[in-house]
Amino acid sequence: MYKVDEIRKDFPILSKTIYGKPLVYLDNAATTQKCKQVLDKIQSFYREENANIHRGVHHLSNRSTSLFEEARQTVKNFLNARFAEEIIFTKGTTDSINILAFSFGETYLNPGDEILLAQTEHHSNIVPWQMLCNRKQAHLRVIPADKNGELDIEAYKKCLNPKVKLVTIAHVTNALGIINPIEEMIADAHRVGAKVLIDGAQAVQHLPANVCRLDCDFYVFSAHKVYAPTGIGVLYGKKEYLETLSPCQGGGDMIKTVSFAHTEYADLPFKFEAGTVNYVGAIALAEALNYMEEKDRSKILSYETELLHYAEDKLLKINGLQVFGQVKNKASVISFLLKNIHPYDTGVLLDKMGIAVRTGTHCAEPTMKHFGIQGTVRMSIAMYNTKEEIDILCEGLAKVQKMLG
Ligand code: PMP
Repeated sequence: MYKVDEIRKDFPILSKTIYGKPLVYLDNAATTQKCKQVLDKIQSFYREENANIHRGVHHLSNRSTSLFEEARQTVKNFLNARFAEEIIFTKGTTDSINILAFSFGETYLNPGDEILLAQTEHHSNIVPWQMLCNRKQAHLRVIPADKNGELDIEAYKKCLNPKVKLVTIAHVTNALGIINPIEEMIADAHRVGAKVLIDGAQAVQHLPANVCRLDCDFYVFSAHKVYAPTGIGVLYGKKEYLETLSPCQGGGDMIKTVSFAHTEYADLPFKFEAGTVNYVGAIALAEALNYMEEKDRSKILSYETELLHYAEDKLLKINGLQVFGQVKNKASVISFLLKNIHPYDTGVLLDKMGIAVRTGTHCAEPTMKHFGIQGTVRMSIAMYNTKEEIDILCEGLAKVQKMLG
């Protein structure tokens, strides 16, 4: 039995009122709210255990080092990675992709090579690769999407050739919530010797992300989308590849020895963690992942799927409402427009009713261009949302139509 009321009690912000109305928070794809277990962990850590990691011999430093390395172990188990050193702590998805774009590019990309990505990517999974291709005189190739936003897999297969060094795709797209068929795409890419990076920013909070089973070479995500704080994220990479990559940043903690003539880098994972990592963030991330495991991730997924179907059915009954990316395999996001009403106006009016949704391009301008629109209204659910909140959203949209339609 999934006890959403109990879960809601763990998230203090959900009991807030906005303009005197109960908060209906449906902007979870932008960031999730934090449970008190995570908030308490951050406070108790700073109150009782804080010291910088890895560099001390004293009690507190040893304690925070062990908690930080336990957090790495928790992430390793969460992703089902083979080794803890395959988990690199970064600042978030964007940071992970930029690190990889630099390090992978230095080692593996030559002029004339190709990087293949999907038309429906987030800007974070486009721009770093564009910058790399410009630096290296390599080519960025785009996997087209069909009229619903699903990737054209036949076209993808045709794009694959030995010049493709990396395929980089979202597990779940952020603007539309479409689950890409990554398992099949990874196997196809490997057949031509390309490595595969999966952007899991919109996936890990909903779906299993079993990197061993997927056999992806790299997988990235941000902690703030899985009920943990901002400023911390993960870059998973297969050990055999991470070992071959040059570090992107130099500094303390990423070295074995330093002299003015030569620096020897540290082993994995430290080679990629220059300077003081956000160790408190990593510890809080582990707390959030443990919270999700405790609630049973398969139960969370089936609850969220039921909620998504409920929302889709109700929204589609609203006259003049068009859903973008209306396909079978989706996770927790519905992007839509009300006929003749600008998404920004819809968002502002919903806000006055205490309803938080996101409006605009969702950092996916090529996706919007694909549909020939300037933006959408995006509602996105998390494990604490309810059918009542979906009802309030639909009533709110009816009011918006009445006022502006
Ligand atoms: N990729 C996807 C699919 C996303 O949804 C996001 C966040 N909107 C990002 C990348 C970037 O994540 P962050 O801003 O946390 O680095």
